[in-house]
Amino acid sequence: MINPTYSSKSDIKQYRLKSRSTLRDRIQQLMTELTQAESELVNIREILNACSDAILITDTEINIIYVNPAWEKLTGYSFSEVEGKNPNLLQSSKTSYEIYTQLWRRLRRKRSYTTEEVIDKGKDGKEFQVYLTIFPVIREGKTLFYVQIMHDITDRKKNEEILSYYESIVKHSNDVIFSLTPDLLFNNWNPAAERLYGYTEKEIIGKHIGLLFPDHKKKEIKKLHKLTSKKFINFETERLTKQGEIVFVSVTVSPIFDRKGNFGGYSVIHRDITDKKRIDEFKKNFLSSAAHELKTPITTLKLLNQILIDKIKKNKQFEPLRVHISLIESELDRLNRLIGGLLDISRFETGKFHLDLQLVNISTLIKETVKKMNLMDKDHTIRVTLEPTLNVIIDPLRIEQVLTNLIINAIKHSKTQKPIEVTALNQKNKIIVKIRDYGEGIPPYTLNDIFKQFYQVNASSRDGFGLGLYICKTIIDKHRGKIWVTSKEGEGSTFFFSLPLQTKK
Ligand code: ADP
Repeated sequence: MINPTYSSKSDIKQYRLKSRSTLRDRIQQLMTELTQAESELVNIREILNACSDAILITDTEINIIYVNPAWEKLTGYSFSEVEGKNPNLLQSSKTSYEIYTQLWRRLRRKRSYTTEEVIDKGKDGKEFQVYLTIFPVIREGKTLFYVQIMHDITDRKKNEEILSYYESIVKHSNDVIFSLTPDLLFNNWNPAAERLYGYTEKEIIGKHIGLLFPDHKKKEIKKLHKLTSKKFINFETERLTKQGEIVFVSVTVSPIFDRKGNFGGYSVIHRDITDKKRIDEFKKNFLSSAAHELKTPITTLKLLNQILIDKIKKNKQFEPLRVHISLIESELDRLNRLIGGLLDISRFETGKFHLDLQLVNISTLIKETVKKMNLMDKDHTIRVTLEPTLNVIIDPLRIEQVLTNLIINAIKHSKTQKPIEVTALNQKNKIIVKIRDYGEGIPPYTLNDIFKQFYQVNASSRDGFGLGLYICKTIIDKHRGKIWVTSKEGEGSTFFFSLPLQTKK
């Protein structure tokens, strides 16, 4: 710059005065700018401090010069612990090397970089996943520092993982799974649903659930409308395929609620039980016809055996055959009992079992049953304790069958000198019958099973078929009563059954 030439002293004074005032103005201006910059800096700092995303700033040597409180909270480190350090102290082994290479490549080209693939590790070693943005701050072509913004997506990623896990279960499930809107329109539809019902997802979404209901099951739709409480329902029923075929399904429907408890529709599972139903049907029919078919020849064999027994009695020369003939007789009785049991079960299952209800004095029935038992078995003493008037509406033949079965079991499982006690008590609105023995007792772990079909404590036992208690339970259930047992191994068992006093339907 060329200095101006001043000719006189006054000119020089004039010049000095002028430049002093210019300098003052300049300083003034700089001061204002500085105050402005300072207040902007304070503003920026406030913004960074208030930001919920974690922010870190490094100089160009990648040394930390600033972290905001959100960063301290996310990582567990305080600023004083990390100041001047490299941010790679957060690096975990979960982030691929490739990510860091890409990151540096972009920053060197003065470009920003964003990724979701970074999993970092906090001070306590706990990992977190972040949505990471890094960019250089550039002034007049020169990088001043680098800024890192981290948005914590750990929970979101976890939820996405759980969601994709459930999606995969639904997708690969063999059961039909779909959901419905509160208006019972299809919301989604899994591949198993498509396989069973023949509708594609595109065809069914938005359609009404009624599409799957055969006419005779349409009234079940009402069941769903009632289901807005927090319970689920489970039932077996029939549904209709796209091809018009009926399938048997086990249905579970649960209402869906959001976090606030608002009702949002239904989740539905259908399990195809068509094959099981067919097998059950076949079993029922087979059981019934096989039992009937066996009954006739056995009745004939019993008759023929009776003829042989009579012949032996009359003719001494056949005496050695007596043992064999009585063995045949007892085996035929065993077969007869099995067939009787199977016929009962087939009647229960086909709904052909009916009670012939009558008003009966149960005390008399018990006394008569015990009398018959005493004729059959002379080795055990059966003590009877009865309250005076015990009139009840029952099917006497069926209740006698229950009593006989329980007394025979008590005899079978007790030593001869041990008594058996039969008691009948009149309670408020029911009568209770107890059959007590002092025999071997029943192992506690089998007590829940002994009323089940074909269950035997000793499976190799040739004496019985595990049907007796199951039949007793079904008969008592049909009378709307209850049957149960208490037992102690080595001390004996007590079987109880109760019958309500008002049974007539
Ligand atoms: P089963 O005709 O084979 O005896 P039940 O259904 O009558 O079949 O009985 C089921 C099982 O319960 C039997 O295997 C038997 O061991 C056990 N049980 C029944 N009654 C008694 C009892 N009074 N004492 C001990 N065990 C018993």
